[in-house]
Amino acid sequence: MGEEVLVLNHNYQPLNVTNRKRALVLLYLGKAHVVDDMGNASVVRLNHHVKRPMPVLRPSRKSIFTRDGYRCVYCGATHLPLTIDHVIPRVRGGTDDWDNLVCCCTKCNNAKGDRLPDEAGMTMVRKPRRPKCLPYISYPKFMAALRNPGWMDYLEPYAASAS
Ligand SMILES: [Zn+2]
Repeated sequence: MGEEVLVLNHNYQPLNVTNRKRALVLLYLGKAHVVDDMGNASVVRLNHHVKRPMPVLRPSRKSIFTRDGYRCVYCGATHLPLTIDHVIPRVRGGTDDWDNLVCCCTKCNNAKGDRLPDEAGMTMVRKPRRPKCLPYISYPKFMAALRNPGWMDYLEPYAASAS
C-alpha cells in the first residue's frame, strides 16, 4: 500500500486522501476494503455510505495559487515573488471571492495599486472563476491527487476543466 491512500465513499465518491496508517485502521476495523492497490495508487472504499454535508469551497491563498498555476495572471511571471491581487480592489468594494482573487507578482501588484485592470492598462491571461472540483477534498490536495494516474479514473469525473 502506498504512502497516500484515496478513500472512496460506498457510492465511489472520493472522500479524502489519507495516509497509509489511517487507511490500515479503516481496514482493520472492517470499515473499508481495498479496491486498488498498485504501488502509489492505493484506493479503499468504505463498506457503508457516509453522509456528509457539502462544504463550501473557500478560496485560500494556496487554492488561488494552485488554480492559477503559480503564475502571475497579468504578466505570466513565475519567478518573481507572488502574492494575491484583488481584481476589484478591496477599497472599492472588491470581495474575497474566487472570481475576484488572482495570483499576481508583487511587481504587477504594485503597478496596479488600487485601480481596476482596465484603468491600469493591464489585461489578464484568463478570467478568474470558481474551480469545479470535489468539495470534500481541499482544492490543492485534489489537484495534486489528480496527477496520480492510478486515481484519475476516480477523480476526473469531479474535476471538470479546473485548470
Ligand atoms: Zn506580474
